Amino acid sequence: MSKTFSIHTLGCKLNFSESSEIARRLQERGFALSEQPETIIVNSCAVTATAEKKVRNLTSHLHKLSPDAQIVVLGCYAALRSEEILRWPGVAATFGNEDKMNVVPFLCGEPLSTNLRFSAAFSSNDRTRSFLKIQDGCDYHCTYCTVWKARGESRSDSIPNVLEQIDRIVGMGIKEVNLTGVNLGDFGRKDGSSFYELLRAIEERHYPLRFRISSIEPNLLTDEIIALAAQSKVIMPHFHIPLQSACNRVLGEMHRRYTRELYAEKVHRIRQMIPDACIAMDIIAGFPGETDAEFADGLQFLEDLDISYCHVFTYSKRPGTPAAAMPQQVPPPVKRERTNQLLELSERKKIAFYRQHIGEKRPVLIESEKKGNLMFGFTDNYIKLQIPYDISKENSIQIIEIQEDNLSYK
Ligand code: SF4
Repeated sequence: MSKTFSIHTLGCKLNFSESSEIARRLQERGFALSEQPETIIVNSCAVTATAEKKVRNLTSHLHKLSPDAQIVVLGCYAALRSEEILRWPGVAATFGNEDKMNVVPFLCGEPLSTNLRFSAAFSSNDRTRSFLKIQDGCDYHCTYCTVWKARGESRSDSIPNVLEQIDRIVGMGIKEVNLTGVNLGDFGRKDGSSFYELLRAIEERHYPLRFRISSIEPNLLTDEIIALAAQSKVIMPHFHIPLQSACNRVLGEMHRRYTRELYAEKVHRIRQMIPDACIAMDIIAGFPGETDAEFADGLQFLEDLDISYCHVFTYSKRPGTPAAAMPQQVPPPVKRERTNQLLELSERKKIAFYRQHIGEKRPVLIESEKKGNLMFGFTDNYIKLQIPYDISKENSIQIIEIQEDNLSYK
């Protein structure tokens, strides 16, 4: 039985939390992390063509470094194309997402679990912050997306179980928890519960932690969630809301479940109740059929929207998705140009948001990463600051006045 392992993670925060959970469980069973491992675990991503290429390159590189190690590939790429992966040199097994945790009994020579409903996971490789997976899978079937195929149906952890995981995180001295899921706002729907109820339960516990809500669909970000965050001391004033297109016709083609007007209403509601909040957006450039006029109109809509910055994605065809088969694919140079315009808009929004808070004193969670003589941290409303390195401040919350020269835009 292989007793040493290494684990390599690509993709989303869910993958990072699951890799961390797998590493903890293997170590509890006597396995040790090693740079010359007998087993190499690759937790893969397939969200874009580039992500898949990274998985292929990484796996081949790791095989060259340790030609005798057995490789086990997990995650979205494995869920979508297991047969292809099993032909790669060195690969002994694959596990998709629903049975990902079975890599542990597989390596221990134990029977594999057949109870695949939901496996809890949180990351703990960073002393400051943990990504806690509370929901998995998605029932939305957006036309450009493969994640719902790779991650399966929407399912959630129970509220008591989430609270138990949080207790474990508190015990590890971690200071911030990022509540994470594939479609987070769908938490609890099938169990007669809701994301709001979970937040209420967290609020009532008075944890010595900061909580952030990771990406949440605009149609699932309810006014009661915003109101709860507005009066909470533990839920940070920080929202990440995907828009994906600022054109209603394109949103329809994407099978998204809202209009841009609903999105603007949510932004407006947050600004009314939590004026200082950071509002981040996801947007895709160059979805099939998006015309120059639609893009220009959408860009103007975004200019007028009071958001803090955008995560910009260039549309890439995902095999087997309805969008990949749509006529009128946007030519790559046009996609690139639109991506650049969105990036430029995001940069301006971010600088404006950061500068708007100069002169304010805010709580900053200082991270342990050191770059030169500097260390970094985020304010409650997700402004990144840099301060001179001081080991005694690692993983502590400091009240710092935001100034032009301590802002970190990277
Ligand atoms: S909401 Fe849409 S984009 Fe997000 S995971 Fe579900 S199907 Fe994919």
